[in-house]
Amino acid sequence: MEKTIAAVSTGAAPGGIGVIRISGSRAVEIADKVFLPADNSSLLDLKGYRAKFGNIIIDGEKADNAVALIFRAPKSYTGEDVAELSVHGGMLMVQKTLQAVFSAGAEPAEAGEFTKRAFINGKLDLTQAESVAELISAQGEQSLKASFNALQGALSKKINSVLQRLLDASSSMAAWVDYPDEEIPDLSEDELREILTESKAELGALLDGYENGKTVVNGVSTAIAGRPNVGKSSLMNMLTKTDKSIVTHIAGTTRDIVEESVRLGGIVLHLRDTAGLRRSEDIVESIGIEKAYKALDEAELILAVFDNSSPLGEYDRDLIKRCSGRKAIAVINKTDLPDALETDEIKNGFSKTVYISAKNDEGYSELVNAVEELLGVADFDSSAPLLANLRQKKNCENAYNGISEALDALNGGMTYDAVNVMIDSAADELLSLTGKKASAEVVNNIFSKFCVGK
Ligand code: GDP
Repeated sequence: MEKTIAAVSTGAAPGGIGVIRISGSRAVEIADKVFLPADNSSLLDLKGYRAKFGNIIIDGEKADNAVALIFRAPKSYTGEDVAELSVHGGMLMVQKTLQAVFSAGAEPAEAGEFTKRAFINGKLDLTQAESVAELISAQGEQSLKASFNALQGALSKKINSVLQRLLDASSSMAAWVDYPDEEIPDLSEDELREILTESKAELGALLDGYENGKTVVNGVSTAIAGRPNVGKSSLMNMLTKTDKSIVTHIAGTTRDIVEESVRLGGIVLHLRDTAGLRRSEDIVESIGIEKAYKALDEAELILAVFDNSSPLGEYDRDLIKRCSGRKAIAVINKTDLPDALETDEIKNGFSKTVYISAKNDEGYSELVNAVEELLGVADFDSSAPLLANLRQKKNCENAYNGISEALDALNGGMTYDAVNVMIDSAADELLSLTGKKASAEVVNNIFSKFCVGK
């Protein structure tokens, strides 16, 4: 028999309440052993979607006021019987209640096991399960919307509609291959070509949106670069609105790399404020500068900072060169001071230039617009279906390639059964994408990345 599992489903920090979730065929019976309703009734008699106020009983004594919430299979998150005990959220009380639940017969849930059971019981498909993990870790507004949208099944619906068309085509063709004398190609070659072309276009659109989706879901690694004293730390502060970066007059104080994630408009930037780019005799600083160049090379987005109040120097020119061909924005800082910077070389070197005064907090919204436009997320539609990770992308890409090959085969005059083999393999890829045919290894791998209690 499937074991009944339990875990703390709320965060690992003291809070107003903590929730212990129990799922499995013995969930209600176990909850009933550790919880006594205030009206002395039994949880065993409680219908689904009902709650009782009462007490947690540990070693025969009332330990805490609590609320028990009962869900009856299949109408629960996991599709099994579920009991949730909400106790006062001190860590000790939550842990003691969990121990009592284990003593009453539940076993510790593995990471992601509740959601895995929901998947196995057909409550969610794999893309939806993955979106649960993404919802939990979402930091940006767009990413939150996109993950919720995936949880609602936006991607699954799109994939399933393509899949259904491929399967229909495949079964019509199989019938024809099996009964060639019946003269029944109820699917004409033109119709088949149209189905394949449309399916290919729809998967192609998903693949095209992948990079933007990734940007929105994961955020963007961003380096703030520039020679010492141009105002990198001040820009970092302007973006984070905290004093984490050290701002001083002495060149070279940001010796190592300061990292911070910030919401900028709808997306999240993982910012790295790097040491000033210059040569240095100071060993510690030299290491910082080397790291800065590395951060610059690795970043998906560069905010290249220049000082409006001083002329363009050797290191500024070097930075312009390094930014060539990269996603980079020239940020001309200190616009509150008299202009001394010749900006032509900068404007030629960057597709976007914005003017700010980090000191006076000016130019923030211009910078947000430039970043969103450069990353192509300015008019990102978070309600559109989105491939959210490499696994989904790989399956989609393989299906796309399978359909392309099937089209080529059809146009090259190959037989229906040869074409059908390629359509079937494309369909298999889509079945793996939504999890209807995913291997146990793939499934385990996905759920192992979840937190315990989810
Ligand atoms: P970093 O070395 O590039 O990180 O530069 P900092 O952020 O430490 O700034 C160097 C100096 O320039 C500090 O004295 C800042 O107060 C000053 N500074 C930064 N931004 C501005 C600005 O927009 N206007 C003016 N007037 N000074 C600024």
